[in-house]
Amino acid sequence: MPQPVHVDVLIVGAGISGIGGACHLSEQCPTKSFMILESQESFGGTWRTHRYPGIRSDSDLYTFGYRFKPWVGAPIASAEEILKYMGEVIEENKLDRFIRYGHRVIDATWSTSDRQWTLVVGTPDSDEPTVYTCGFLWMCQGYYRHSEGYTPEWPGMDQYEGRVVHPQRWPDDLDYKEKKVVVIGSGATAATLIPAMADDCEHVTMLQRSPTYFFSGRNQDELADLLRDLEIPDEWIHEIVRRKILKEQQEVTRLSFEQPEAVKEMLFDGIREHLGEDYELAPHFTPSYRPWRQRLAKVPDGDLFKAIAAGKASVATDEIETFTENGIALASGEHLEADIIITATGFNLNVLGDINFVIDDQPLDFSKTVSYRGAMFTGIPNMMWVFGYFRASWTLRADLLGDFLCRLLNHMDDQGADVVVPALRSEDEDMKLHPWVQAEDFNPGYLMRSIHLLPQQGEHHPWVHQQDYWTESKELPEADLDDGALVFTSPPTG
Ligand SMILES: Cc1cc2nc3c(=O)[nH]c(=O)nc-3n(C[C@H](O)[C@H](O)[C@H](O)COP(=O)(O)OP(=O)(O)OC[C@H]3O[C@@H](n4cnc5c(N)ncnc54)[C@H](O)[C@@H]3O)c2cc1C
Repeated sequence: MPQPVHVDVLIVGAGISGIGGACHLSEQCPTKSFMILESQESFGGTWRTHRYPGIRSDSDLYTFGYRFKPWVGAPIASAEEILKYMGEVIEENKLDRFIRYGHRVIDATWSTSDRQWTLVVGTPDSDEPTVYTCGFLWMCQGYYRHSEGYTPEWPGMDQYEGRVVHPQRWPDDLDYKEKKVVVIGSGATAATLIPAMADDCEHVTMLQRSPTYFFSGRNQDELADLLRDLEIPDEWIHEIVRRKILKEQQEVTRLSFEQPEAVKEMLFDGIREHLGEDYELAPHFTPSYRPWRQRLAKVPDGDLFKAIAAGKASVATDEIETFTENGIALASGEHLEADIIITATGFNLNVLGDINFVIDDQPLDFSKTVSYRGAMFTGIPNMMWVFGYFRASWTLRADLLGDFLCRLLNHMDDQGADVVVPALRSEDEDMKLHPWVQAEDFNPGYLMRSIHLLPQQGEHHPWVHQQDYWTESKELPEADLDDGALVFTSPPTG
């Protein structure tokens, strides 16, 4: 049996979080050895897995991009542009030598006596798994299963004679030219797919059970363009435009809680701009919940509404009664004919990368743990998970947690500690516990379906899973590592 490969920090996943994490480690903890294990054949995560027509970001890249690597394109970017950006980050930081592709982590076992994690890893070159050991495990595996999307079971699916496609597994050979297509769902994926396909199809219908809020705006940032015209350095433009966008987003988030009606009207105006002042927004574009309880779907340059205005796309708001041989029968009695049905129905949440976690012979029940700042978990030693923001770009939190982990690792070195475990203190014992995300705050289907699998959060710091970038960006850099919630231990001497 070959010797396990050992590193100080092992990163799982080469998506935006894992690649960013490696950059933070190289810069802020230069003496730590690290490696990234990635199950796919290349980097990118979300932006590699999804290959459907039009695939693009929903966030602007000034904030979805890393704080240390300027973004120089239009705010909303295609997956291809994001992969190019990430490729440059890998090259500029010489990260290639630290990444092992085709390496899927299967088991992770913590041993208190060995004071390290042992990982069993499936690799492309061998039927025998390879073993890695590490001091610290940095989970950058995202939050959903990459191998398959979520498709509900509808009656009659087996009698449908056309093709059913989930956007997460887009077939290379799918020919939708002059075809009638129904897209089930109205989230960001549907809003991206429909305008990208509409010109080629005979017609595309967006079938939704309930409406989504859409944010329609130009895919352009005037301030960025002006600063570029003035030949301001890219680093400055990145920082200035980031701050401006964050300020604007903070204002929209605040208003969506304090003045939801005003935010609704602003969003509706964006739709009317393309569909006309007299367009009847109900029932297709008038959600029953307040804005931001689910992610707002961006419609850059109004492309979805342009496809509707051109008659190439339409919306049906209805319940599916049954699939038929050639389409979908709706509860209202209407029948939608379809050569192809696309189920833009979301993800399967995947907790900790489908890895079997064991801590000293005990299988880990993640749902029984309590979150330390939404990043570490009671009873799990030397482990951090990057779970980003819902209302702001994911990468903002990946960067903040990268800084936090590096500060923690350096603090441990200063203290001579090699193990850290979050643990409730005596003052936390009566604290009420809540789900990872409170449904009244944010409640998309993929989270609500699997919320019982996720850790709990407490009512006060440091046990709250803070989903507010503007608060956390101030609090996290100053978080007291010695408030007793993190229990540090040193290796035995002698
Ligand atoms: C279509 C789509 C569009 C999105 N758009 C936005 C957006 O505009 N803005 C935003 O903020 N968020 C967006 N999101 C959310 C998005 O997932 C995150 O923003 C971000 O890309 C997540 O990055 P990540 O690196 O944490 O995880 P991922 O991108 O999910 O990457 C995780 C990586 O870990 C690997 N991995 C998982 N398990 C294992 C294992 N056991 N062993 C080895 N490797 C493993 C996976 O193969 C994958 O490469 C979008 C999501 C989707 C699906």
